[in-house]
Amino acid sequence: MDKSNKVGFISLGCPKALVDSEKIITWLRAEGYETVNSYDEAGVVIVNTCGFINTALEESLEAVAEALAENGRVIVTGCLGAKQDAAGKNLVKSVHPKVLAVSGPDSVQEVMDAVHKYLPKPHEPFIDLTPPVGLKLTPKHYAYLKISEGCGHKCTFCIIPELRGPLQSYPIGQVLDDAERLFQSGVKELMVISQDTGAYGLDIRYRTGFWGGRPVKSNVLGLVQQLGRLAQRYGAWVRLHYIYPYPHIDDLIPLMTDGFEGGVVPYLDIPFQHAHPDVLRRMKRPANGEKHLERIQQWRRICPDLTIRSSFIAGFPGETEEEFQYLLDFLKEAQLDRVGCFAYSPVEGAAANDLPGALPEEVREERRGRLMELQETVSYGRMQQKIGRTLRVIVDETVRGGAVARSTADAPEIDGVVYVQKPKGSRRKLSPGDFIDVEVLDADAHDLWGEWIPSAR
Ligand code: SF4
Repeated sequence: MDKSNKVGFISLGCPKALVDSEKIITWLRAEGYETVNSYDEAGVVIVNTCGFINTALEESLEAVAEALAENGRVIVTGCLGAKQDAAGKNLVKSVHPKVLAVSGPDSVQEVMDAVHKYLPKPHEPFIDLTPPVGLKLTPKHYAYLKISEGCGHKCTFCIIPELRGPLQSYPIGQVLDDAERLFQSGVKELMVISQDTGAYGLDIRYRTGFWGGRPVKSNVLGLVQQLGRLAQRYGAWVRLHYIYPYPHIDDLIPLMTDGFEGGVVPYLDIPFQHAHPDVLRRMKRPANGEKHLERIQQWRRICPDLTIRSSFIAGFPGETEEEFQYLLDFLKEAQLDRVGCFAYSPVEGAAANDLPGALPEEVREERRGRLMELQETVSYGRMQQKIGRTLRVIVDETVRGGAVARSTADAPEIDGVVYVQKPKGSRRKLSPGDFIDVEVLDADAHDLWGEWIPSAR
């Protein structure tokens, strides 16, 4: 079997890692390499790893072990590749000395150098086989747009800044070019991602960049305004993820008030992590629950349809029962739409591990359970309010008699879906990426059920 241009690829981790994988695969294809799905066919296997929490780290090490056992020629990249062991040596190399090369996140060039070394470049690159937008690992109608690398914060539970380095914003012209290429290729929903979308441009002092010959400010407001206009032009949605709760996020809310028409959907993914001021201080996170509450109320006054997704950590070191209750009270009051919660898990190398008052795993898990139980009730109440309304949704998948779709309140993979049935006798066809209007007939705490209203389209 000729394996001379065949590369196996395993992509683990978050959407940011997925974007790195897309870039590497695009380069491989541009240079004439073929990606294959079996270890047997591959001349070399690339594993893009995650090392954020210990379970992800173990999963990544296992994936490398499997690739070594099944193929033997393995290149490792991604967050785990940047981690060191207790002796200060590269962790992957210590555990798996047989790997060919190891690099950290956002290391397309290093990965390509390793591929060139261990599977020399095919003679005739089929550059024309690569679409101008690059290769995507998501369905054709949605895509992630990564706007920066690294993070400038020092949250004590997190080691991302060590793994991915300080904030490095991509030039605004390049980001908008990427966005336009994605829209031109048929993308109907663009998810803006980074470690901290609100910080965009801080590292380059918000300098003025250029796009299409016009000056554009490199800050989150300038970026989202331009993305909204582009989305309007191409009849698409833009969704914002991973926003750190800065005061200037208030400026984004008016851009969301036109719903679908404005291009930017009324949705904020804003990980508050906790509400009690003392816990937030120990986490080195901003503000406190009361300030968050005021701002949430103000945002909802301006944009009543705003969906807020957030994530929290239960059982952070030193969290008292009273502090945890404060968080539960905050959740009752804030009425967030979508919530995820992790029981605190000590990440190797994180400053929080040295804080006093580590809680036993049973307590952390029990608090996580209580929080999710409360949120289930809140989410259910929020979802019930949608019954009887007509919502614009984007179709993800067609099924017999209808479709599985998402409203502006639903990001792919992490939120709920809308199960849509066609009206009786309707023969009109739907396709992924179609925007349709749906009357909501039923809801649980996560998903909606409704009927397509073709006439409202
Ligand atoms: S904002 Fe905090 S949690 Fe998020 S990546 Fe940066 S340091 Fe980690």
